[in-house]
Amino acid sequence: MKEFILVVEDEVNIATMLEYNLKKEGYKTSILSNGEDVSRFLIKNTPNLIILDLMLPGIDGLEVCKNLKKDRKTASVPIIILTAKSQETDKIIGLELGADDYITKPFSPRELIARIRAILRRSNNPEKEPETYNTGDLTIDFSKIMITIKGKTINLTSKEFELLKVLINSKGRVLSREHLLDNIWGFENSSEIETRTVDVHIRTLRKKLKTESKRIITVKNYGYRFEEEI
Ligand code: CA
Repeated sequence: MKEFILVVEDEVNIATMLEYNLKKEGYKTSILSNGEDVSRFLIKNTPNLIILDLMLPGIDGLEVCKNLKKDRKTASVPIIILTAKSQETDKIIGLELGADDYITKPFSPRELIARIRAILRRSNNPEKEPETYNTGDLTIDFSKIMITIKGKTINLTSKEFELLKVLINSKGRVLSREHLLDNIWGFENSSEIETRTVDVHIRTLRKKLKTESKRIITVKNYGYRFEEEI
C-alpha cells in the first residue's frame, strides 16, 4: 500500500494541484487548509509525511512544525515545508525546527514528488544506529557507554550520556529543552523549573567535555544543537 500524505495548504489552487499529483502517484492524501486543525487531525490519523505551507491563517506553518516536532507522537513524521522565495529566513528556521526538506513556490510537481520519494525511502529504511561516533578529539562508544577525549576516558553520569547521545543523533539540528526533557527524563508537561534541569546537565556535560564542549551550541530561548564541524 502506498503512503499517506497530509497537505496543509490554504491556497485552494495549490492544494488541488498537490492533491491531483499525489493521487496520480498513488499516495493517499488529505488536505487541511489551516494550522489549527493539524493537531486534532493527527489524533486519529498517522500520515507518513506532511507537506506544510508556512503562510497559513491562524497558526503559521513554523508554529505547526515546532509543535509537531515537540510532541513525541508526531516528532518522527517527516515534514516538507512550502515557502515563497521571500521567506528565506523562515525556511532556515523551519529546517532548524526539524523540517526534513523545503520547496520554494512556484515548484514543479515532478520535483516535489522526487523529494517526497527520497524522504519516504529514508524514513522507511532508517540507518542503523552506529556503535561508535568520532569527531575531533571526541570518541563515543555507544554500546559500552564510554566516552574518550584524546584517548582519555571521561566519566559522565547516565543522564549526561543520554543527553549527549540524543544531541549527536540529531546533530546539526536544534532540539528544544522540552524535547530533551521529554526524551531523557520523560516529563510530559515541562514547567519552567523542569526545563532548567536540561540547562544544568548541559553545564556539567560541557565542563566534562572541556575543549570538545564547543560543539554543543546554545540556541537562545529555545534549546541546544550539536555541531560536528567546528
Ligand atoms: Ca499559504
